[in-house]
Amino acid sequence: MPTSASLDHYLETHLDESIAELSRFCAQPSVAAQGLGIAEAAEMTAAMLRQRGFHTEIIPTAGSPVVFAERSGRDPNKTLLFYNHYDVQPPEPLELWETPPFEPTVRDGKLYARGVSDDKGHFVSRLFALDAMLATEGDLPCNVKFVVEGEEEIGSIHLEEVIREHAVRFAADACIWEFGGVDHRDIPQQIMGLRGICYVEMKVQTVNADTHSGQTGGIFPNAAWRLVWALNSLKGADERIRIAGFYDDVRPPSERDLELLAQLPDPAAEYRRRWGVEHFVKGVQGGVELWKAALFDPTCTISGLTAGYQGPGSKTVLPAHATAKVDFRLVPDQSPERVLQLLRAHLDAAGFEDVEIVCLSGERPVKMPPDEPFIDLVVKTAEPVYGTPMQKVPLSGGSGPGWAFHHYLGVPIATAGIAYPGSNIHAPNENIRLDLYLKGARHIARVLKAFATA
Ligand SMILES: [Zn+2]
Repeated sequence: MPTSASLDHYLETHLDESIAELSRFCAQPSVAAQGLGIAEAAEMTAAMLRQRGFHTEIIPTAGSPVVFAERSGRDPNKTLLFYNHYDVQPPEPLELWETPPFEPTVRDGKLYARGVSDDKGHFVSRLFALDAMLATEGDLPCNVKFVVEGEEEIGSIHLEEVIREHAVRFAADACIWEFGGVDHRDIPQQIMGLRGICYVEMKVQTVNADTHSGQTGGIFPNAAWRLVWALNSLKGADERIRIAGFYDDVRPPSERDLELLAQLPDPAAEYRRRWGVEHFVKGVQGGVELWKAALFDPTCTISGLTAGYQGPGSKTVLPAHATAKVDFRLVPDQSPERVLQLLRAHLDAAGFEDVEIVCLSGERPVKMPPDEPFIDLVVKTAEPVYGTPMQKVPLSGGSGPGWAFHHYLGVPIATAGIAYPGSNIHAPNENIRLDLYLKGARHIARVLKAFATA
């Protein structure tokens, strides 16, 4: 086995090469939402893995292909799976980038590019850790597999069917998730679950075309009003979601979850300062109560609302069409399929049969037991790198395809990574800190060693 010192020495002396490789990967646009550069990025992903002796396959789907790779290691009975994604968010608005999004640039110890944190930097930092293993030992301590998809940023639409179909080949003993990182105090966090999501578009059409509001405002049904009334029926000003049965499957946080939430720093002051929020909804003040509301309450969020004329000045028009994008964040044990059924039933019962629902994406929530042994291994191996073990967070506010991995492959899932609160993921000037990139690779190398010998 390589010593930690020899692994660290390799990583410290080869950082520039890894950053150069990451920069080449980030220079390749791969925007799933715009269908931009997807095939090229999948091929690059596979090539980077082939260079490390992995057998790779680019598995086609009706959307972006999934890259699968495997390489055997010294212990043939242990397999660690890495899940990552090669697609990125759209870079717009371009004018807010200090340097162009697909021209990776190092400034002040940070590398800037679209996708550099979410998720290309995570992927390449895993490869960097494997390089250190291979260089110091000539082999990997256990089998390693990668599943790298190209639709994470648009809801992992085809991933679940690929995992279901290839469950035998993808089989592993544990999974390292695509993201991870430190909080504002540089303390690494272990995120032990993901909320689910049900993302829908609600559409109303009342007449064939927009009409003169003076002639028709008193006699034609207005699509904008229909949609506003339908939306109003979904949630009250008390923030309680009014869809019958919506809360039936909600599993409240356990005592252990609440204990972990109580150990987290109170983000209330930071949210007030950074976002100018004067008060939180539901009368929440801060602390555990705020964490609990942020992570364990399912939500119904209007993400977008469009109808009629919104240009300068006035235009007296009666809109024929109105649409809203609504995202429901789901907690264990809710499911997007059930929420969709309940939403349809609710709208029909409330007299809104004319409101069409188009489901754009759905993912189930997943939550690991807080004291799962693999999670503890990842938590503890962080200590020599970060000077502290990881802090456990029972659930993420965000969503991802974790349920499919957990359900079809039966793997425990742990997070580890290179992100920090200033990474600007999904926003202009996305970046990573090079010091955290190195730490992330040092941590993954230790995870691999400890996992192989556990
Ligand atoms: Zn993302």
